[in-house]
Amino acid sequence: MRNLSSYPSVFFFEKLETIPLALKRFMWHIRNRMNIFNQMPRNHSLLQRWQKISFRLVLAGLLVMGPALSADDLKPEHKALIDAALPKEAPAEPGKPRRILVTNLAMRDGMPWQGSSHAIIPVHNYAFDQMGKQTGAYEAVFSNDVEMFRPDTLRQFDAVCFLNSVGVLWEDEELKQSLLEFVASGKGLIGIHDAIATFVQYPVYDQWPAFGQMLGGTENGGHPWNGEPMMIQVEDKDSPITAAFGGKSFQIADQAFQLQEPVFRDKLRILLSIDVANTVSPSRVLPVRQDDMDFPIGWIRSYGQGRVFYNGFGHNAHVFWDPALLEFTLAGIQYALGDLEADDTPRQ
Ligand SMILES: [Zn+2]
Repeated sequence: MRNLSSYPSVFFFEKLETIPLALKRFMWHIRNRMNIFNQMPRNHSLLQRWQKISFRLVLAGLLVMGPALSADDLKPEHKALIDAALPKEAPAEPGKPRRILVTNLAMRDGMPWQGSSHAIIPVHNYAFDQMGKQTGAYEAVFSNDVEMFRPDTLRQFDAVCFLNSVGVLWEDEELKQSLLEFVASGKGLIGIHDAIATFVQYPVYDQWPAFGQMLGGTENGGHPWNGEPMMIQVEDKDSPITAAFGGKSFQIADQAFQLQEPVFRDKLRILLSIDVANTVSPSRVLPVRQDDMDFPIGWIRSYGQGRVFYNGFGHNAHVFWDPALLEFTLAGIQYALGDLEADDTPRQ
């Protein structure tokens, strides 16, 4: 597997040659970025200040001690499960060799951290990588280096995938423009699970509203279901992307997000949603969602000349060795790449 990851370099602590760099970056964060004692509003109480300082120190600890996880860290039993579940062939013939830039970058308070999906990085990166290799649908290039999103680098790719990325990955305006223009110019955007919590950091959920608008929504208010079995209904039964489900509802235990937008169906072609009537009651439902109880979990949309595919499954490892979900994901990826035709006209 190709891995061009360099940022956060500190995650490669186990590689001796990176220790000086890791220390340098850590000290830089302590001095410039964290500003442990200075960046808090004046009205913070002493207790609030100490809470915040301890939180940052814990983050700093994770930053230095955290192992670099990649598909190479995959457990043999998980590899066997994924190998057995991978689609044998892609639903469409690629128009040309396709390359996808895949990032797992997780940020918090301007620093790399280990998001809640960190432990399954080896699982989903291996599944994503092998699904492209074995079907010939695409080549995945994994990187957590935000410099990869500059226009000159980005143009070597047919799509980008935010694979359980989380938090505010960058503030740089040129990078923001670069990503929006990349997709609008006719390329693809693929979001898996935590992608909906990307450029989101509590308590501000839409830190870069244009990203949420492009992806199709912004999560807010936590998870209405967090590991309970959910009944999933196939809304777009004729779409080639949902073919794996044969039009039938199915049950799956995973973590679901809720969107904060009052209206979203006017822009999205919803493929899958949670069948609330046949699922245990949700918790912490936003007021805006209590009104409609509408929880889509997979959709496509056009964006300028480009295409977006969002797949909300992917918090739990077993999602990545479920044959139907892998087939669904591959078809969505091929739609985003422009190789699989699918009707993306929004529907209520
Ligand atoms: Zn999650």
